[in-house]
Amino acid sequence: MGYINVSKDPQKSLKNGYLATTLLGLGQTISVFAKQLLKLEESVTIQWPEVEYQYSERFKGAHFLTKRPDGQVRCTACFLCATNCPAQCITIVAGQSSDKGIEKFPLRFEIDILRCVFCGYCEEACPVDAIRLGSEYSMAGLPEQKWVYTKDYLLNRPENKKRLGDKQISKKEENVKDPSVESKLPHIHRTGSGH
Ligand code: SF4
Ligand code: SF4
Repeated sequence: MGYINVSKDPQKSLKNGYLATTLLGLGQTISVFAKQLLKLEESVTIQWPEVEYQYSERFKGAHFLTKRPDGQVRCTACFLCATNCPAQCITIVAGQSSDKGIEKFPLRFEIDILRCVFCGYCEEACPVDAIRLGSEYSMAGLPEQKWVYTKDYLLNRPENKKRLGDKQISKKEENVKDPSVESKLPHIHRTGSGH
């Protein structure tokens, strides 16, 4: 028959374990602090806000709207982003474009950024690469600040100007223009197309 050894004073052994691990933790903290103070080890923290962290290109921060090479908004007001948005924070009012090849454009395009959950579904849903989530992550502000990003703001974000210049053109557009990228695109055979 099996049996279990139970400590006579479980409270005491718990206290010893707690104190020992606390002291070990403190020792580790002091050791790292001393090493970084004496520059024997590089610090993993940064001096925010003087130093900004550089996230990768894939980081999903604040949105921006891309432009055509002629500087016009690339969005065709198809509403796919607004339909896919789980937070329902995109408002679009479509207008008739004078260019028959484009058909529609957004008269109004707004994102209520306080409701946005930065899921990136809008970017995924867009068929023409007109909306993207950029690398900007610092969006703290005061209540009186404008928290609904308008079309003009999304098209001319100061943060993007710093990174992309005045271009802010679509990646698709860039890729089509770049023959080295075009040549790498897979050849798609469409069955039943008759070609
Ligand atoms: S990132 Fe998500 S929540 Fe924000 S606007 Fe796009 S789809 Fe909506
Ligand atoms: S941003 Fe893209 S998905 Fe959204 S309305 Fe414009 S074209 Fe359609």
